[in-house]
Amino acid sequence: MAFHATILTLYPDMFPGPLGQSLSGRALDKGLWQLQTSQVRDFATDKHRSVDDTPAGGGAGMVLRADILAKAIDAAAPEDDPRPRLLMSPRGRPFTQAHAHKLAEGPGAIIVCGRFEGVDQRVIDSRKLEEVSIGDYILSGGEIGAITMLDAIVRLIPGVMGNMESAEAESFETGLLEHPHYTRPSEFEGQVIPEVLTSGNHKKIHEWRMSEAERITRENRPDLWDAYMADEDDVD
Ligand code: SAH
Repeated sequence: MAFHATILTLYPDMFPGPLGQSLSGRALDKGLWQLQTSQVRDFATDKHRSVDDTPAGGGAGMVLRADILAKAIDAAAPEDDPRPRLLMSPRGRPFTQAHAHKLAEGPGAIIVCGRFEGVDQRVIDSRKLEEVSIGDYILSGGEIGAITMLDAIVRLIPGVMGNMESAEAESFETGLLEHPHYTRPSEFEGQVIPEVLTSGNHKKIHEWRMSEAERITRENRPDLWDAYMADEDDVD
C-alpha cells in the first residue's frame, strides 16, 4: 500500500494545491502516494453547519468543537488504522527531516488542520493526536503546514526522486547544511566558479565541499554546528 495521507480541513480546496505540481504531483499521478481530504464541516449538526464556538473561560477568538472534529476523525480513520494521527499546532514537536524519513517509511498519516484559536483539548486527548509544528511562527491555519510536511515526506518515498544520491548530501541529512552549487556559465558578471570544482580532482572537490558545508553551518546555524561537533566527539 502506497503512503496514504488523509487531511481533515475546513478548506479541502487548498489540496492538492502545490502538491499537485512537479515532483509530488507526478508521484501522485503515478500512485506512489495517495491524498484524500475530509471536510470537517460535513460533520456539523446544526442548520448553520457551525464547527467552532467561543472559548470556555472567555477571551478572543473561536475554538474548533471537540464533538464535530471527533466525528470527522472517526469517519476518516477507524480505531485500527495504523497511521499516525497528527495535529498541526505551533505548540507541537518541531517537524524535522528525521521525522519526514520516519513518516515516509510508514503507511501514511492522518493530518488534522486547525483553524481559529485551535481545537478543543478533549479531542486531542481522546483521539490521541500528536501535535506537530512546522516552525516558531503562527500561521492562520494548519493547511499550509500540512502541505509543507507532505512535500518533505513525499520526496523521500522510494521511487519519487530519481536520484536518491542527491537526497543524501542534502542539508540536515549529514548534520551539516549543504555546500554551495555552481553551474554554467563558467563566468557570471565577472565571478568565476571556484577552480577546485573544475579541476576533476574528486578528493579535492569532496574536501572543498565538506569545508564549505562546515563553514556555512558554523555561520548560519550554531545550534546544528554544536550538535555536529558533539557527534564527532562521540565517534572519536
Ligand atoms: N492560538 C494558537 C494558534 C492558532 S493558529 C496558539 O497560540 O498556539 C490556527 C491554526 O493554525 C492552529 O490550530 C494550527 O493548526 C495551525 N498552525 C499555526 N501555526 C502553526 C505552526 N507553526 N505549525 C503547525 N501548525 C500551525
